[in-house]
Amino acid sequence: MDKTSSLVQSDLEQALQLLEQFCALVTEAQEITLHPPCNGPWAPYEQALHTLLEARRLALALAKGELSYDIKEKGTLAGALKNLQANLRHLTWQTQQVARGDFTQRVEFMGEFSVAFNEMVAQLDAMARELQTQQDELIRRNDSLILEVAERERAEAAEREQRELAEALQAAAMALNATLNYEEVLDIMLERIGDIVSYDSAVIMEVNGMQACVRRAKNYHHYGEAIEKRVLETCFDIPKTPNLFTMYTTLKPLVIPDVDQYPAWNRHKTGNPVRSWVGTPIYAHGQILAFFSLDKLEPNSYQEEHARKLEMFANHAALAMVNARLFQEIQRLAVTDTLTGLYNRRYFFERACQEFIRSCRYRHPLAIVMLDLDHFKAVNDTYGHPVGDLVLQVISRLVIQTVRKSDLVARFGGEEIILLLPETTLQAAESLAERLRQKIAAITIPANDHSISITASFGVCGGNPADCQLEPQRAIETLIEFADQALYQAKQGGRNQVRSLLPNFSKNLSV
Ligand code: GH3
Ligand code: MG
Ligand code: MG
Repeated sequence: MDKTSSLVQSDLEQALQLLEQFCALVTEAQEITLHPPCNGPWAPYEQALHTLLEARRLALALAKGELSYDIKEKGTLAGALKNLQANLRHLTWQTQQVARGDFTQRVEFMGEFSVAFNEMVAQLDAMARELQTQQDELIRRNDSLILEVAERERAEAAEREQRELAEALQAAAMALNATLNYEEVLDIMLERIGDIVSYDSAVIMEVNGMQACVRRAKNYHHYGEAIEKRVLETCFDIPKTPNLFTMYTTLKPLVIPDVDQYPAWNRHKTGNPVRSWVGTPIYAHGQILAFFSLDKLEPNSYQEEHARKLEMFANHAALAMVNARLFQEIQRLAVTDTLTGLYNRRYFFERACQEFIRSCRYRHPLAIVMLDLDHFKAVNDTYGHPVGDLVLQVISRLVIQTVRKSDLVARFGGEEIILLLPETTLQAAESLAERLRQKIAAITIPANDHSISITASFGVCGGNPADCQLEPQRAIETLIEFADQALYQAKQGGRNQVRSLLPNFSKNLSV
């Protein structure tokens, strides 16, 4: 073989080799390794083979869904595949955008897929809009539900508060109505108002004319004994006390949110540390009976609603006070003689019996004095009955002014006055009677251009009761009988004198 034919031979072998590799690239599945590059006339085909290999790799990668395989090769096939790769990458990005909610993405390059994709995105868009609308509606309904619930809770809280207030007022009214004792009513008022309007300290001031005097005080001992004592002893001149005067004239409650801002209140002068104040007049039939005064240490603790509640309670309290006062008055009238204001005979017996029991228990002396005006009939006959009444009133007042607070003075009959003197010996009773006799004899009573002088006779009896088996009523009747006998002796003796009997009280009582 010559040189030319051996060249052709090797060219053919190379061409065949190239064709085999081309065939393998197109048909075989496994990875192909290209022969080492060669020069010469087959170099361009070898390059084309290389480009085909890269295009094949790119196509395989695309087939597996890998979009990142990068080739530098050029040419129609590689270019088309790279174009496809770029489009698929863009499609991936678009899908990610759709996933993020950007439904404006549209695909243009993939025919039927584009139509399907775009339709899907359009539907997603529509669904998202629908969802948004539904969500907006849900949010709106939720908001209105929240508002409705809040409104209902507010209404329920207001109703609960109203109910609790009504219950507290009812309980307070029941407690107040359960007693006719005026002092107890004051205690209950101060106690119960705390269930309705809370306070750190509080007082009830009783109104008499233009004076308001503290009758009950609560919790002031927390601020010191001296302050409590001063509060309890305080009487306010209403016209000179602006907060009381305002309530007095308006008949309305008053709130002072911060006493430091109230010109008429000098906290530092009084030493009273309270800062908030609410008060109300307690009145019935237009007449002010008392004031409530509630304090708190914290400023701005009281508002109008507290004043309103206090006022409601005050209306109940006023009725209870009026009832208790009426009852007190009825009780007073039941034991009082209307002309002289002295106790009546029935009450005298009741109390005298109690005193007898006491004097027995403690072995203390007890005395009775009976007084009868001398020739009183003549006063009536001379000056008329009304003047006689006046004389009786003056003498009664004089007797009351002369005896001790613990002594019991009653009108026993027409112009007879009886005295029960606890813890008093016969001698002491005699000297009191003598003192009274002298005072009566000394006064002159002006009446109808006349000056009336009068005297009185006295019968005294008393001592230490030893026989306490004796029935009290019987013991008192016996004492009175002896005092009456002594009085009779005084009359017999010429009037205007003191006589006594039963120096040995116990012995005679036992008879
Ligand atoms: P003696 O010194 O003996 O006690 O004489 P007397 O006149 O005081 O005694 P007598 O019992 O005869 O008269 C009492 C009089 O007191 C009779 C009655 O008219 C009068 N009297 C009784 N109650 C009242 C009253 O409420 N008002 C007035 N003005 N007089 C009364
Ligand atoms: Mg008389
Ligand atoms: Mg008489």
